[in-house]
Amino acid sequence: MNESDSQRMGETLARAGWSPVGEPESADLVLVNTCSIREKAEDKLYSALGRYRLLKARRGTRIGIAGCVAQQEKDRLLHRAPFVDFVLGPDHLDKVAELALTGGVETDFLDTEQYLFPQADPESSRGKATAFVTVMKGCDNVCSFCVVPYTRGREVSRPYAEIVREVGSLVAVGVREVTLIGQNVNSYAGGCGFAGMIRRIAAVPGLLRIRFTTSHPMDLSPELVRCFSEVPRLMPHFHLPVQHGADSVLERMRRKYTIAEYERRIGELPPGIALTSDIICGFPGETDDEHRRNIEFLRRTPYDNLFSFIYSPRPHTGAILKLKEWGEVPHEIAIRRLDEVQGLQMARTLRRHRERIGSEVEVLVEDTGFGRSRENWTVHFTGEARIGDLVKVRVESASLVALRGTQVETLDRAPLAERPAKRRLAVVSA
Ligand code: SAH
Ligand code: SF4
Repeated sequence: MNESDSQRMGETLARAGWSPVGEPESADLVLVNTCSIREKAEDKLYSALGRYRLLKARRGTRIGIAGCVAQQEKDRLLHRAPFVDFVLGPDHLDKVAELALTGGVETDFLDTEQYLFPQADPESSRGKATAFVTVMKGCDNVCSFCVVPYTRGREVSRPYAEIVREVGSLVAVGVREVTLIGQNVNSYAGGCGFAGMIRRIAAVPGLLRIRFTTSHPMDLSPELVRCFSEVPRLMPHFHLPVQHGADSVLERMRRKYTIAEYERRIGELPPGIALTSDIICGFPGETDDEHRRNIEFLRRTPYDNLFSFIYSPRPHTGAILKLKEWGEVPHEIAIRRLDEVQGLQMARTLRRHRERIGSEVEVLVEDTGFGRSRENWTVHFTGEARIGDLVKVRVESASLVALRGTQVETLDRAPLAERPAKRRLAVVSA
């Protein structure tokens, strides 16, 4: 989401005459797009600001802060770092060029009716095989660990016709795979349900692959489950974060499901779907027994991959208010638990990758010698394929993070999406 927001702001600035440079040292404006999901992400901003302060002193570089830390801290950021020129929340991406000139703070949320989704400029995706497409913003859930509802506001869905049009314009410049993004795409309601939107996008001629992220298990509809078997362009990869394997922790996290409900739902998925998840270790009050249940759940759930984190207390969240009551998990214990979770998954991911040695996988080429399989595994290969080609690769070796092999067949050539030559026009009054 953050990456996609950066792209939109870059496009707005380009329209206002700014052009990108390789490194901040030669820029007239440095815009830092921030994340506040965990404290570590937030810390990155403050170490970056230390460097940019010197730039400002030396070259007068303008400095702007956008994203979730901007939204969370608002004008407090200007008190903490007075050399910052402007602060911009995620609802105001379109104002970036204006604020870059005037300075100031823009962090009020817009009313749902007033909110307009920024349109992607397809030209910035020309030459790429994949693109993100925003389908909704914000989150109406109240997970007690999570700062997103505070920084991204209420859920707003983008009208489906706008989304289909954007996908069409991306395909026209050569994009072959789109990832539909939102904090909770399953509760999409932009004139149709999420499953209905996937079917509409699948009908866009020339598009090869559809992915989406992220989904909340409680909003997983039978219609979406059906899409996995009925929409061939929807890739067999499903990121459905569980967060923890013990009901008592899920309750404190306010996730609104039990493990039995989660297992019943994933049990309804057709076979062959690469299921991935997020896990938080060291959530306040997590006992040895709760951790043991988490491990037991993970052992019996055949996740394809797992993203695991140590709990990080975030401002304006339910859990931080209960930290004393529930009890903080000492950092060393949280790290040990995280190591156990990661060790378990790494062994499994490696085994799964190795099982593919000798077989052929379908790869969409994202860069020279690099692409992704249908399950979203990274594949490095030798071969002649161009960006946007769909090829078959015979897997010869595998590591924890990637498969390696040789291209054996081209399934579908990338259409040439060359930039149209500029045509010259004269308008004369007669
Ligand atoms: N909307 C998604 C999650 C988006 S945040 C969902 O509901 O599943 C991405 C991931 O960051 C979460 O799944 C969670 O595992 C992790 N995360 C969020 N807040 C966190 C925190 N305070 N500490 C540690 N991890 C956190
Ligand atoms: Fe955060 Fe996801 Fe929960 Fe929303 S559903 S509050 S984004 S973890």
